[in-house]
Amino acid sequence: MIVVPLGIASATPTAVRHLPAVALWREGSVFLFDCGENAQMRMLQAGLKRSKIDAIFISHFDVDHYSGLMGLLSTLQLQRRDRELTIVGPKGIKEYVNWNLQFSGVELSFDINYSEVEEGAEETRVIDADDYYVEARPLKHRRFCLGYRFQEKDRPGKVDADKASALGITEDEQFKKLKAGENIKLEDGTEIEAYEIVGHPRPGDSFAYVSDTEYCPNAVKLAMNTNILYHEATFSNQLADKAKETGHSTASDAARVATEAQTKLLVIGHFSARYTNLHVLLKEARDGFYPTWLANELRPIFTDPTHERGIVSPKVELKDLTKKSSGSDYRSNDRGGSRGRSSGGKNFRSRRGHSGGGGRSSSGGGGGYRSRGGSSDNRRSYNNRDGGDRYNRGDRGGDRYNNRGNDNRGDRRYGSNSYSNSSNRDRDDKNNNDSKPNRTITPRTSYDDFDRF
Ligand SMILES: [Zn+2]
Repeated sequence: MIVVPLGIASATPTAVRHLPAVALWREGSVFLFDCGENAQMRMLQAGLKRSKIDAIFISHFDVDHYSGLMGLLSTLQLQRRDRELTIVGPKGIKEYVNWNLQFSGVELSFDINYSEVEEGAEETRVIDADDYYVEARPLKHRRFCLGYRFQEKDRPGKVDADKASALGITEDEQFKKLKAGENIKLEDGTEIEAYEIVGHPRPGDSFAYVSDTEYCPNAVKLAMNTNILYHEATFSNQLADKAKETGHSTASDAARVATEAQTKLLVIGHFSARYTNLHVLLKEARDGFYPTWLANELRPIFTDPTHERGIVSPKVELKDLTKKSSGSDYRSNDRGGSRGRSSGGKNFRSRRGHSGGGGRSSSGGGGGYRSRGGSSDNRRSYNNRDGGDRYNRGDRGGDRYNNRGNDNRGDRRYGSNSYSNSSNRDRDDKNNNDSKPNRTITPRTSYDDFDRF
């Protein structure tokens, strides 16, 4: 599984962050969790084909979470898609899409298979395919909002070929039965029990998408023992009251869910526009749950980097959010050369000043997951669940995420600085906190309405 954050803003986009959407790539198929404005564009930039989308999951009807849906459907139509598309969401999503299509006089060239969840429903299996299923549970937001868990089904254990041939098992049919857990009878009448030949089943990978919500037990249930939990972290602790009031989570809330669910990796996203420096959120989350990364738009996160690296590669240069020069990168990329230098440059510098970040650019590299120690608890539980077979994989888990900072071997887009700088940044942050205990956040423009989110 490869998770690609496409938009990590909450409520309103910023100059560098887009509205909520997260893509999950699995075995050539793409699953989209929320579809904020620009999601289809970000997919292109991420190197994900829109034609590969199998299903779209909408969490709730705050506009920023589904404002990209009709645009995406229109593109799929223009691409002459003929494959069925599944759309999952709270009850009403079908009516919304149909009304829009009708209004525009569009008749789709493909079928949409809707899976709607009624308010008040508890755990709902919204998709049940041969090799995976997706489960939805209500979260705790100001309006009905669903969290999702994508779960690969367990794969049968490996057959011990030597043992099998020693016992005289040769036919495919026999192997099939054994793999399915059935016992077989040999020609001489000996009964072979499946467990003698077949190892423990190998648990499938899992991913949970939790946005928007206050802390709630359902978030923990969705995230239980997942490989990757994507959790909203709209606010820092300083604004815990506002988080509660608006039905959102702080970075610590996300960490709490991750800890209780014993996920392997927490990825936080859905950041309030007021944070130009996301490092404060990362730090607070890591205080509660060390294996945490900041979601970085378009940067893929792997459950199995050895096999998955290179499958999804961004088509644009990723902004290294940990580099001090990111402001100027942005200018030269998006405004093109000299014109932006005077006006754009000024804006960016003054913004950084406002953020209180001491000139550090908004961070987001998420180079972390350095320590294996931090995940030992998770690993233990993982192994319990798995039985022996997965043990090795679980053990490698440290490695899987560990290499993040080195992902860039031969691929400069991943920005090598993030990894080595993180300890310095920790130090900087402490110093900063000492010298400026009352870090405040200043609206960047008079139009920024922070009461909204
Ligand atoms: Zn939201």
